[in-house]
Amino acid sequence: MEDTKYGKYFISYEGEQKYPLGEVLARFDDTLVGGSHFYFLHWMMPGVDLNAEEFQIGHPPHSHGAPEVLFHIGTNPEDPMDLGAELEFMIGEEMERHLITRTMAIFIPANVVHGPFRPLSISRPFLFLQVNQEPRITSAFYPELMPEEHREKVDWDMWKEKLKA
Ligand SMILES: [Zn+2]
Repeated sequence: MEDTKYGKYFISYEGEQKYPLGEVLARFDDTLVGGSHFYFLHWMMPGVDLNAEEFQIGHPPHSHGAPEVLFHIGTNPEDPMDLGAELEFMIGEEMERHLITRTMAIFIPANVVHGPFRPLSISRPFLFLQVNQEPRITSAFYPELMPEEHREKVDWDMWKEKLKA
């Protein structure tokens, strides 16, 4: 790789980083590949205890300085649109609730609040791809949109750290 001109653009991610719901397959941004935007690809696996507190609270409400696309990709060869999972996704300061059960992409315009995001059930592995259209992801959080008992339990430093990439 080192001695070729373009080898640096062929990225195999040997995930040292564990994501609670499944193996990380790729995660990079401008700091790793100059000129790139932010990409994060990981598995979402069944068999994780979704009653655990972190999943009950979910990914806290936040927004980014650039548009984001969240791809949920089912792996059922008989029905590629079948996600094999049920996810709850809140969007907007109104906390508009959506249920995701099919292969689907969610486009989130810049500065639109989204989350909490919670897996309700996962019966078959699926792929989750986050594309954020800025060189380094920037996130603002909105604790005030969460119920107080959830807000107190969130480790806000951990989220900021995680999203810094
Ligand atoms: Zn986001």
